[in-house]
Amino acid sequence: MSYFKIISKGEHPNRLFIGGIHGKEGRSTGQALEQLSEADVREGRLVIYNCDDTPYLSTLNREYYQSRIGKEILYLIEYYQPHVYIELHCYKRENYKHLTSPHRRSVQGVPPLIELEEGVLIGSVSPYIRTSFFKRDDICMTLEMPCNPVPQSLAVYVNILKIIAGSNSRMELEDKMIQAYPSQVKTAIKYAKEFFGDYPPF
Ligand SMILES: [Zn+2]
Repeated sequence: MSYFKIISKGEHPNRLFIGGIHGKEGRSTGQALEQLSEADVREGRLVIYNCDDTPYLSTLNREYYQSRIGKEILYLIEYYQPHVYIELHCYKRENYKHLTSPHRRSVQGVPPLIELEEGVLIGSVSPYIRTSFFKRDDICMTLEMPCNPVPQSLAVYVNILKIIAGSNSRMELEDKMIQAYPSQVKTAIKYAKEFFGDYPPF
């Protein structure tokens, strides 16, 4: 069952977290999203949407955004115009190598995801939407964890969501992320520069 929730403590910043982008991901990402509560947001708004099962189509495939779920996601982005947009995905353990491979850029055309800890990965959102649906200074991030996560992975994942939900600006978020994961953020900055040019890491 899809899950929708809005936590509202003002207009700015406006955050949109979408879980379960394709396939059966929503079954895992829902476990994380339902742990977010009023107390996690100090200022601004958090819109949470967790999707039902859909056929699996990669967001790196242009057709994704023509599918029913892809259109629904674009609609939510256009409607809420988030300053902070987070996609929650999960991956099968056998795909870990592909997602984090240094060759991902030559194979799939996008930078590798970066492991924070416990199999939780961060990366950018699909290039099809990053530069066309968002401003440069908007925060856009993909978060991945193993599907059917063990408690340790789920805890790291939820903690990142809470950091994002509780940050009121890019600077605040970057400071917190650098403190928690200095080398990973450095790598994210490098990848963003290589791939998007003059773009920030998230
Ligand atoms: Zn996914």
